[in-house]
Amino acid sequence: MGKIVAEHETSSARIRAKLRNPYSWCFCELCGRTTEYATAIEARAVFKCLRKGAVKAIPLTDRIRQEALRQSHEIVARYEQALAGDLGPYEAGRMLLAYCDVRDMRGDWTVEAFRDQVERRTLITEWSKHGDLQAAVRLPKQADGTPKPSRLYCENHNPKRSDDSRRAYQRDRRFVVEFEHVQAEIWARDADKLPRWDLEAHAHIRQEAYAMLQAMKSPTRLIDKLIEQGITKQSDLARLLGVSRQAVSAALKERDGK
Ligand SMILES: [Zn+2]
Repeated sequence: MGKIVAEHETSSARIRAKLRNPYSWCFCELCGRTTEYATAIEARAVFKCLRKGAVKAIPLTDRIRQEALRQSHEIVARYEQALAGDLGPYEAGRMLLAYCDVRDMRGDWTVEAFRDQVERRTLITEWSKHGDLQAAVRLPKQADGTPKPSRLYCENHNPKRSDDSRRAYQRDRRFVVEFEHVQAEIWARDADKLPRWDLEAHAHIRQEAYAMLQAMKSPTRLIDKLIEQGITKQSDLARLLGVSRQAVSAALKERDGK
């Protein structure tokens, strides 16, 4: 736990504020994908350092699983008691805060949801007793010496990741204000349908806003996609995109000009 806490500490106020927001901490600033950091946290594994700097991966054995399961049964039994009120008015809430990722539970405080959370946590705890929990300092399959996972951007937008991602970053950061604006508009439009507390809804809105923004900023990219699918008549393209045929023609001309 000490290691996990240490990873969350950072010197930048901007990043502290981002990580504290339960509905945006894991999203790229520029699109609807998760940040490299959030991806790295998901891909935890346990390793053991050997002599001379070698590292051995510790497998997740049946024994570790069984021990974790036994512990989680005990904790869940206590939660059931707490829910029934046998342990005073605050114990259930205290246990939720101690054992669960509350934002991940999305308002579901049932025993099943609690068990799901606790099982994951006891497994990681038990596993890490056999070695060192890999810190979230590297993405899966990432080579040594590459930049640390970004807390602000996804793999496609991290300016330090590659030439492509730097270009995408430069292209999209100009529209950061519009990106926020389009999201706010979708929230307002679908306010009755979308649960604000649901992280999935936030992801959905961000993805949709990003797609809309891309379509607005470079209509030819959408047109190219449709042409690839075999739709070549300008009138068909116009109908599918909900614009006039003249607009399609103009967009194509502009692209050919480039
Ligand atoms: Zn991104």
